[in-house]
Amino acid sequence: MEAASGRAGRGEAAGDGGPRPGGRQWRRGGGGGSMRAAAGDVVGILILCLVSAGAALDFKYHHSEELEQYLRGVHAANPSLTHLHSIGRSVEGRDLWVLVLGRFPTHHMIGIPEFKYVANMHGDETVGRELLLHLIDFLVTSYGRDPVITRLLNNTRVHIMPTMNPDGFEATKVPDCYYTRGRYNRNGEDLNRNFPDAFENNSASIQPETRAVMDWIKNETFVLSANLHGGALVASYTFDNGNPVTGSLEGYSRSPDDDVFIHLAKTYSSNHASMYKGTGCDNRQTFPGGITNGYSWYQLEGGMQDYNYVWGQCFEITLELSCCKYPPADQLEKFWRDNKVALIEYIKQVHLGVKGQVTGKNGNPIPNAIVEVKGRPHVCPYRTNEQGEYFLLLLPGTYVINATVPGFKSMLKTVEIPDNTGNFSALRQDFSFPEVSDKIRSRVASCPKTPLYQELTRASAAVKPTVHILVLMTVILVIFK
Ligand SMILES: [Zn+2]
Repeated sequence: MEAASGRAGRGEAAGDGGPRPGGRQWRRGGGGGSMRAAAGDVVGILILCLVSAGAALDFKYHHSEELEQYLRGVHAANPSLTHLHSIGRSVEGRDLWVLVLGRFPTHHMIGIPEFKYVANMHGDETVGRELLLHLIDFLVTSYGRDPVITRLLNNTRVHIMPTMNPDGFEATKVPDCYYTRGRYNRNGEDLNRNFPDAFENNSASIQPETRAVMDWIKNETFVLSANLHGGALVASYTFDNGNPVTGSLEGYSRSPDDDVFIHLAKTYSSNHASMYKGTGCDNRQTFPGGITNGYSWYQLEGGMQDYNYVWGQCFEITLELSCCKYPPADQLEKFWRDNKVALIEYIKQVHLGVKGQVTGKNGNPIPNAIVEVKGRPHVCPYRTNEQGEYFLLLLPGTYVINATVPGFKSMLKTVEIPDNTGNFSALRQDFSFPEVSDKIRSRVASCPKTPLYQELTRASAAVKPTVHILVLMTVILVIFK
């Protein structure tokens, strides 16, 4: 595997460095007045301030303790709208915090899609980390006041992880536009090369941070997400890796959902203050429309976005949000202004397409039923969750949805998908298999652990059939093996 030092960023950084200004962590949003209290009461009073006045967040870098303190404060001030939990620990033992926002923050509700933002996976790429704190601040202060945000959070469960690599962040002592060792985790591993890869065997040993995210993806029904980086200005979409079957010989690794990914990337870039111009950073590469196929930019193995799409049933894009990886804190307010609308508009896209439930006898949900769109099969087929639910992101149009309960006949339904993102709900289309009993639970079509597209390459070398037939063959193998 080519080390990250050779292609250290998604684009190397440029720009000016600078000092890191200090600053208070909290700023009251209104209703000032002096407070006198013993030191032990300070936290409580800060929380009270949040409740009563809707405290705003300062534009500065929040180190681990401050970040945790902020998240705890938000949760304490918004206990019914938020849920705070750690999905694991870094190598140095720091919690990997996730704040969940929504009308039902503690658990999945049938029909409500799960969305996630992850930032600071490369510890020295810091803008996303602070943007997500400001996004949290904006969401909790707008809920109940702004009708759009209120509807968004009533109909979406939003998971926010401000840092996936807290050790790398703490190891990066001062703002630096260029690549530093803080990119890696404490074991020196690049977390965005650390996931199982669909195209080749990844020999890197899976790190605690990576394992925590993989388990998290397994335990939630994520539908859409984005991974926030720095060092360039572009929205990059899957695949990052490729082979001749996905078109890599033409310099573009195309997924069956390429149209949806282009739309998702464009949604971000076109709502960003300048990304859509595609001018890139300094004299480096330009990106038409501010978007790129990951492989077209440069090929990488073990990335998180391909993992999400192939194994997690979650469409993820990679957002490069700053030419300078770790800019001075006095630029953070402008970064927030430039990204705020895009961050919100992107979340709404989780309501694209179609969703529904697959049920059997007595209306019981059927987990692990395969629900795919005709003409765009996933090599690892998308399956229903424990509640028999499926979510498929699709652009408006006419599609045939194929629901398959292994061992039974498939059920096909033609659906006309409108643009539903403004309604905060995908089209609903349920499937009922009255002849299927509850015993179907034991007949699970499992998703193999080996690199799926690697198998396609071998088959391609042997018989050279069309891509379409290859994908179908693999689906059949996966289902019936
Ligand atoms: Zn990065």
